[in-house]
Amino acid sequence: MSLSPYYKEINKEVEVFEHAYSEKLPVLLKGPTGTGKSRFVEFMAHKLDKELITVSCHEETSSTDLIGRYIIKGAETIWVDGPLTRAARTGAILYLDEIAEARPDILVAIHPLTDHRREIFVDKLGEKLKSHEDFLLVASFNPGYQRGFKELKPSTRQRFIAVSFNYPDPKVEAEIIVNESGTSIDIAKKLVNIANKIRNLKELGLTETASTRLLVDAGKLIKSGLPNRLSVRVAIVEPLTDEIETVNALADLCDLMI
Ligand code: ADP
Repeated sequence: MSLSPYYKEINKEVEVFEHAYSEKLPVLLKGPTGTGKSRFVEFMAHKLDKELITVSCHEETSSTDLIGRYIIKGAETIWVDGPLTRAARTGAILYLDEIAEARPDILVAIHPLTDHRREIFVDKLGEKLKSHEDFLLVASFNPGYQRGFKELKPSTRQRFIAVSFNYPDPKVEAEIIVNESGTSIDIAKKLVNIANKIRNLKELGLTETASTRLLVDAGKLIKSGLPNRLSVRVAIVEPLTDEIETVNALADLCDLMI
C-alpha cells in the first residue's frame, strides 16, 4: 500500500467519517478554503483503501460532466462514463469539491444517490444504475458568511451529514506547518501568529483570510532559503488582496512579526 497522506485530526472527524462510510451516509465538509478538507478526504480514502475520484466543481460543471457522454471516436460513437457514474459502478469515493459552485442540475442527478435508492439515472443510456455497495459521496462547501459565495439549498444540505472545518488551534496549526513545509517550529509559530492577527482584522473586509495552506506555502519558501519577509509577503499577503494600501499595511504588520 502507498504511503498515507499526512493529515492531522482536529476534532473526531476521522471517527465520524468511518461511521458515515460504514452506514454509507453522504458527507458534507464545510469550511473556508485551505482548512484541510481535500487533504482529509485523501487521507480517509487511503485509510479505507478506496479509490478517490475528485471533481473540482465550477460554474460550468453540469450533470452531463458528472454522468457521462457519447464521444465520437473514428467512425464510432462510444459512451464514456463521467466520474459520478464511474464511482457508483466501481465503488469509489466521489469527492465533489465546492459543490455549490456547480450548475443546479447536478443536484437533480445526485439526489437519488443520496437517499435509500442509492441509484443514478443515466438518461442517455436509459439505464438506472444501482450504486456499488462501497460507493460514497462526499462534497465540500464554503459557507457564505463572506461575500461572493454561493449558498446550498436546505433540501440538498439535509441529504448529507456535515462536518465543520476551521483554522486549527495555534499549537496544532504550527505542527501542521512544520510537517508540511519542513520549516522550524520557531518560524511555524510566527506564521501562525501572523495568520491569527490577520484573521482578527475583520475591518479589512477580506473575502478570504489567511488559511493554513498559505502558511504552509510561506513555510516552504522560507525553508527553501527565500528571505522570511519576502516569503510572507508573496505567500500570505499578496494572495489575500489586490488593494495596494491593504497589501502595504499587511506587509508592514507582518515584517514586524517574522
Ligand atoms: P481545502 O480542501 O479545505 O481547501 P486542503 O485540504 O487543500 O484545503 O488544505 C490545504 C493545505 O493545508 C494542505 O495541502 C495541507 O498542507 C494543509 N493542511 C490544512 N489542514 C491540515 C490538516 N489538518 N492536516 C494536514 N495538513 C493540513
